[in-house]
Amino acid sequence: MTDIILRTINLTKRYKNRLAVDHLNIEVRQGEIFGFLGPNGAGKSTTIRMILHLIFPTEGDVEIFGASLKEAGHRALERVGAVVEKPAFYGHLSALRNMEILGGLQKPVARRKIMEYLERVGLADRAGDPVRTYSHGMNQRLGLALILLKEPQLIILDEPTTGLDPQGMKEVRELILELSRERGVTVLLSSHLLYEVEMIATRMAIIHHGRLRVGGSVHDLLKQGPSEVLIKTDRPAEAMQFLKTNESYSSARIHGDGGGINVELDQERIPELNRLLVNAGFNVSAMIPQRTLETYFLNLIEGHEA
Ligand code: ADP
Ligand code: MG
Repeated sequence: MTDIILRTINLTKRYKNRLAVDHLNIEVRQGEIFGFLGPNGAGKSTTIRMILHLIFPTEGDVEIFGASLKEAGHRALERVGAVVEKPAFYGHLSALRNMEILGGLQKPVARRKIMEYLERVGLADRAGDPVRTYSHGMNQRLGLALILLKEPQLIILDEPTTGLDPQGMKEVRELILELSRERGVTVLLSSHLLYEVEMIATRMAIIHHGRLRVGGSVHDLLKQGPSEVLIKTDRPAEAMQFLKTNESYSSARIHGDGGGINVELDQERIPELNRLLVNAGFNVSAMIPQRTLETYFLNLIEGHEA
């Protein structure tokens, strides 16, 4: 038995002469939160729509729980729950009534289950209110509650936090994390924000122009590439000149706002660099490890667009 729940195999979508998704190979493993990252227009939604059998690939296939989507069609999606757009509800009806209608469950089971899931997403006390009075974040949560009714083993969410305010984003993120922990569901979630994926995903793939650019464990990717430190000191220009005379610190440059210096450096060598500067008479007020994956991600995208 493989622990791979979802696999795209050379998945490709061509619109006229634009390759929206280009021979994409990704694998989502049992129980993980998989981040599917890429800037707007990268091909995330197109990929997700192909996975959900809403549109058909030009080439390639998707394997879900070992079944070929090409062969099994919708049957391959029985254990999958997805929220791909802003979920559509009947605005004049309550959340409870929406869940009853859209959930398609048999009556006696329905009410108890629905309330359990509304409780789960933090909407129990608003269950009787018309959905048109809900915020965007509440709509997203209701969307999640609805797919939970199906008790899916794989949840696919296309940019679940886009358009939410920071508090709403946090709530949705936490909910996804909890569902993953409590129920062991596997989650595939797309985002155009690296930090979001970083916060909850264990593995990720970055796509750009429909192509896979990097993939792997978030932890490993975060360690990848040159790590940098931002040094806050009283005389940045002088300190930079001083550092540049040392071959180990030849990458030293003034930080964007002029208030410090950036140097490429492994994190474990920070104390050593600190001592060097202090011994040379510089006041060092902070040494801050930089989030290099962000830079890496941006370079990847900008480099490609140039
Ligand atoms: P993302 O979700 O990552 O923002 P999309 O998958 O929506 O990206 O879009 C990928 C590319 O495919 C974009 O260039 C987009 O304009 C194009 N595209 C998406 N849907 C269609 C369509 N129905 N017809 C033509 N081009 C499309
Ligand atoms: Mg999209």
